[in-house]
Amino acid sequence: MATSLPVFENPAALAGDGLGCHSGKEQLTAAARAAGKSDTLDRYAQDYPKGPHDQPQSMCPAFGSLRVGLRMRRTATILSGSACCVYGLTFTSHFYGARRTVGYVPFNSETLVTGQLFEDIRDAVYQMADPALYDAIVITNLCVPTASGVPLQLLPKEINGVRIIGIDVPGFGVPTHAEAKDVLAGAMLKYARTEAELGPVAAPRGGKGDKPTVTLLGEMFPADPVGIGMMLEPLGLAAGPVVPTREWRELYAALDCAVVAAIHPFYTASIREFDAAGRTIVGSAPVGLDGTAGWLERIGAAANVSADRIDAAKARILPAIKGALAKMPIKGRITMSGYEGSELLVARLLVESGADVRYVGSACPRTKWSDADREWLEAKGVHVQFRASLEQDLAAMHEFQPDLAIGTTPVVQKAKELTIPALYFTNLISARPLMGPAGAGSLAQVVNAALGNKARFDTMKEFFAGVGEGHAAGVWEKTPEDKPEFREHYKRHLAKLAKQRKAEEMV
Ligand code: SF4
Repeated sequence: MATSLPVFENPAALAGDGLGCHSGKEQLTAAARAAGKSDTLDRYAQDYPKGPHDQPQSMCPAFGSLRVGLRMRRTATILSGSACCVYGLTFTSHFYGARRTVGYVPFNSETLVTGQLFEDIRDAVYQMADPALYDAIVITNLCVPTASGVPLQLLPKEINGVRIIGIDVPGFGVPTHAEAKDVLAGAMLKYARTEAELGPVAAPRGGKGDKPTVTLLGEMFPADPVGIGMMLEPLGLAAGPVVPTREWRELYAALDCAVVAAIHPFYTASIREFDAAGRTIVGSAPVGLDGTAGWLERIGAAANVSADRIDAAKARILPAIKGALAKMPIKGRITMSGYEGSELLVARLLVESGADVRYVGSACPRTKWSDADREWLEAKGVHVQFRASLEQDLAAMHEFQPDLAIGTTPVVQKAKELTIPALYFTNLISARPLMGPAGAGSLAQVVNAALGNKARFDTMKEFFAGVGEGHAAGVWEKTPEDKPEFREHYKRHLAKLAKQRKAEEMV
């Protein structure tokens, strides 16, 4: 084993207090560039464009890639980052039922600056690389190790037959946790594509089917791939694996498809790998009547299916969707926002169910794979906002005064304060089937139940009016008193601190 220590340029990455996702982004970016991570940051900037504002307010991006690794069989996960980041990420992954160990290589200023951290990571990887247990080990650089240039690319590509995948997922380079899923999925696809080019690879677990397949790009409710498979059957096609995959060998099957359906449109790095493998990519998804008809046509055309067959598939499935939409109409004005990447699909389904949708905000960027959905929604008068900020989501809610706000936690909280019924996008909307007839009925159920809650909100508001609001928020033993002078004092204190920081930065 070679033991030469890479020298890191960047003790600065650890200088000062409070560098992380809440501050210090410019310093971390500059440090990472100085430490040789410019290529990675440039690629991320191209794959995951920012703007119109800087970055959506969302969870730590690394959670996305962490979760993808934790959901894969025979895959070990190691984080390299500040203890507080690792604590938060580990906590969240167990909160979401990971039931797996998250490996951690700790560091301090000395091991970071001397390059010992890289050696520690390499030792950890060698210790873990047991082919009886693992197909792959994913090691992730969080913000500080990325800013310090910890060179994961120098790790061996494979140890004892176990693949080693090193990725940088800094909060200052990858805007959302959704896109971080693509960072890992793309890295794995690239690795698997190279393996497939070099020789024979493992067949799918249940053997190779006789129909050409459609790989489904983007995490979805488990029943959806089954429903999609049924819709593809009359086209003579079958549903292939969902990417991110649940085990390594599925990556080969995913690459070995006839067409890739970019159900979630932000998987830019993954799409690059499918492109390189010569696959055709089709955007949007079979949601609602128009969405399903258009999707079947585009998938059919991409797979060289005859027009007759495409018409037959449409004739078989569309009446069932029409029936489900008519049976469960949605009446009411809705604003919607989320960070999963499926927001536009959900909005389409709501519109087709009869809802008056005014605004859709997505933390993900606009890509050409979301064009079909964006154009359809805009033609129906819906404002579509990519890279939406919390402020934009809240402004839309204030402007459109919806009967229901679907959104992220802070949006839902604000809506409830305003007695607007609200639903969490992640827990309640994206955890249901969306595709085909099943999606039409299921979404209407939860949305209508929430819309029916308005009267309860009004009663609660009337009953609790003024309690726990503004200066009275929190738990009190005595009747809370408003102290505006305290607020003024604290405001002045914060302004002074900000000034002091600025002065220090200029020294
Ligand atoms: S790794 Fe995540 S939690 Fe830690 S500083 Fe970066 S963005 Fe924040």
